[in-house]
Amino acid sequence: MSPLSMPADGERMGKGYNNMAVVERSCWQKIIQDVVANGGNIIRPWFTELDPVCLEHGLLEIKAPGLNEKNYCEHFAVRLFTEAAQKATGHLVGVCFLAGNEISDEDNDTSTPLPPQNPSAAETATAERPAAVKLCKEYVFENFVTGPCNRLAHAASLAVCEGLGKTYNPLFLHGASGLGKTHLLQAICHRVLGELPDAKIEFLTCEMFVNHFIDAVEKGKLHEFRYRYRHVDLLVIDDIQFLADHEQSQEEFFHTFNTLYQDQKQIILSSDRGPQEIDLEERLVSRFNWGMVTRIDRPCYETRVAIIHKKARQRGIALDEDVVCFLASSIDTNTRELEGALAKVTMLSQVMNQPIDITIAADALGKEATPKKHDITIDDILKAVTRRFNVRLTDLQSHRRTRSVALPRQVCMYLARRMTRHSLEEIGGYFGGRDHTTVMHANKSIENLRGQDPQFQATLEKITDEITAGL
Ligand code: ADP
Ligand code: MG
Repeated sequence: MSPLSMPADGERMGKGYNNMAVVERSCWQKIIQDVVANGGNIIRPWFTELDPVCLEHGLLEIKAPGLNEKNYCEHFAVRLFTEAAQKATGHLVGVCFLAGNEISDEDNDTSTPLPPQNPSAAETATAERPAAVKLCKEYVFENFVTGPCNRLAHAASLAVCEGLGKTYNPLFLHGASGLGKTHLLQAICHRVLGELPDAKIEFLTCEMFVNHFIDAVEKGKLHEFRYRYRHVDLLVIDDIQFLADHEQSQEEFFHTFNTLYQDQKQIILSSDRGPQEIDLEERLVSRFNWGMVTRIDRPCYETRVAIIHKKARQRGIALDEDVVCFLASSIDTNTRELEGALAKVTMLSQVMNQPIDITIAADALGKEATPKKHDITIDDILKAVTRRFNVRLTDLQSHRRTRSVALPRQVCMYLARRMTRHSLEEIGGYFGGRDHTTVMHANKSIENLRGQDPQFQATLEKITDEITAGL
């Protein structure tokens, strides 16, 4: 039977607008399998809510949960779904996306618009005012998982909310894509708005700032532009690295920065690299360093596990521990990909109508399911640490205190504490009869070093990954 024809009873997908054209389950299954296999970073957690409405006259209509999601699909996912639909049906099918009930943005939207800013200021309140970024409701502190990779950034973000313009000004968060910069920035806005509902906040991407600026220059509305960005309590600009190729905007931003700074108004910036690494005028770079600059690193294994647990709970997805471990050890790049992986697994399980297990997870990720992980032993840890630091077990168990031995010994204690169930006493005893305070001290030292030295942090992550992978 052609997927375009009537499906058998009970085989329909979609909430069925019209009986003639509902989409067959098997067809939608194929489409989703293809999307999961080829969607890469395009896939978003809410893809699980996409709903095929009908497939008629060569057009597949897919309902997205809200207007933002529909827009996202139209921008990034049309090709993905079109190719998947064509492969699944063997026909030349087009795809179009609808938003929820297609009535209005407000009901379905997952975002909170920032409140109108200073509506009494007639010069700013023009109908042409470029739209403000909407805050995503999910990007709040409560949903942010902390670990060694982001603890400092998280603490600094909280501190900024406590003393706007006073604690750290500016706050500059940097780190690779998908590590939670935008989430933290928005969490700050949510928190500030919660505590000071009248606070004037501008949250925007640097690209928007540059576009608004260019537009203002062209339309002779520089005065309004300046009023808008220089009369706020909090200015948050995401992805500031975008300023690099825009000299005039840099100049404008420089003055915006100075005005706000002098008025003790809070400035928060994010970037995919540190201030020095962006090709910007020196006077801006030095200003970025006036307050707090903090980097977010890739999450380590334990943080990845915690993130998966949190995301799954948030979305009401039940996951067995072996699936969680599988995802956390398969995806070590960034949190966005981790979310994407969870979405893929959920989509596949929904469409196949099977509970999520390790086979579904492996299928979704295009990987072999690894056998269930054995409990990690202290020997696994020793093997990985001695290999990485090039020391012998006897050295670790000796009383030598040279750094070349003391550091790997502390690493072993630290990992043993985290990855096995041994008590402090047992671990101390194992490493040359040391007492539990030595193990506590080792834990603290490694925690500190990890926070201060990104290279060490990376080494620690590699060792952890090797241990969990059973290498
Ligand atoms: P960036 O701005 O650094 O590219 P985002 O803030 O957009 O990254 O984060 C990508 C996704 O990962 C978002 O959905 C965000 O909620 C999630 N995320 C990132 N870090 C964390 C974290 N520590 N805890 C929970 N979710 C996170
Ligand atoms: Mg971002």
